Amino acid sequence: KKKIAVMTSGGDAPGMNGAVRAVVRQTIASGCTAFAVYEGYQGLVDGGDMIKEMKWEDVRGWLSEGGTLIGTARCMAFHERKGRLTAANNMIEKGIDALVICGGDGSLTGADRFRGEWPSLVDELVSSGMRTEQEVKPFRHLNIVGLVGSIDNDLSTTDATIGCYSSLQRICQAIDFIDATAFSHQRAFVIEVMGRHCGWLALMAGVSTGADFVFLPENPPSENWQEEMCSIVGKHRELGKRKTIVVVAEGAHDRDLNAISPNMVKDLLSNKVGLDTRVTTLGHVQRGGTACAYDRMLATLQGVEAVKAVLEATPETPSPVICIDENKIVRKGLIEAVQITKDVAKKIEAKDFAGAMAGRDAEFGE
Ligand code: ATP
Repeated sequence: KKKIAVMTSGGDAPGMNGAVRAVVRQTIASGCTAFAVYEGYQGLVDGGDMIKEMKWEDVRGWLSEGGTLIGTARCMAFHERKGRLTAANNMIEKGIDALVICGGDGSLTGADRFRGEWPSLVDELVSSGMRTEQEVKPFRHLNIVGLVGSIDNDLSTTDATIGCYSSLQRICQAIDFIDATAFSHQRAFVIEVMGRHCGWLALMAGVSTGADFVFLPENPPSENWQEEMCSIVGKHRELGKRKTIVVVAEGAHDRDLNAISPNMVKDLLSNKVGLDTRVTTLGHVQRGGTACAYDRMLATLQGVEAVKAVLEATPETPSPVICIDENKIVRKGLIEAVQITKDVAKKIEAKDFAGAMAGRDAEFGE
């Protein structure tokens, strides 16, 4: 009877609770025992009450809840081998040999590293006298499965990460509210949205709200973007538009990688186009609130698939990450997925914007 633990790590995202619920319940339905690790990798390092057995009813009502009810943390100790050794010891103490991690690329990288090191960690537990050979015998292999939880939609091999559609929904609602006041006063608003290196939230929010101009990290505007933006906004006004919305991704920059800030855009709209302009930074409201229907569905289907992947894995199976690709729930190589994502960031740094866009194909819908 397998003992499968689930944890959330990195930035919180709506739908993470649905993923935990699905993993716990599918584990129990498969005749196995479910555990939750509280506070991300910190819970694995701390052990004890931070790794709790979960019953069916423990996750009741979790499907719609935003954030993560089992907590998340950035854990420095897990970056060190010593921290991972303690984590391995705590897992063996609870009898856990499979871990489902819902988080971003950092969390998934940490997970694969842990799995790769696992045999040597177990050897060290024995050689240092912390565990006997007998105790570690059933734990020679660690099973890891990744679920991508992030509002940014920044993992290249999946069309949607758990949380991104809830966040997009929230951004659109906020822009709709701002639209009303912008229209009334004939104002311009510059809206900064989250996403780090990834412009998916900004692009989709722009498309979904009919924004006048959008700034993305992967596809920076032309060299003379100041004139271009002012001329487009001015033309829209001449055509009778009473409001202006410009969306700026938090990682936006020009083609030389100089940051484009919402205040720079505001100054241009005020001084060059003569518009009464305000900046709104949506901030953490983009992460909170209930999960939208899509994220509940995605989290549930992927959580179930993650448990199936654990139960079907052999020691030779590379760690999978559960993705959605053209509307199908699929398993992909975890390390390849993280690598492709990291390559996009590198391409942006190298000013290879066409390459960065190509690397984002899955999320941007080509
Ligand atoms: P988000 O995309 O929301 O930031 P993330 O999963 O990328 O999520 P990180 O802060 O990069 O967030 O990682 C979360 C935690 O995962 C870290 O605090 C650390 O404990 C662990 N981790 C990340 N990278 C590694 C690594 N290379 N080795 C070991 N542990 C790691």
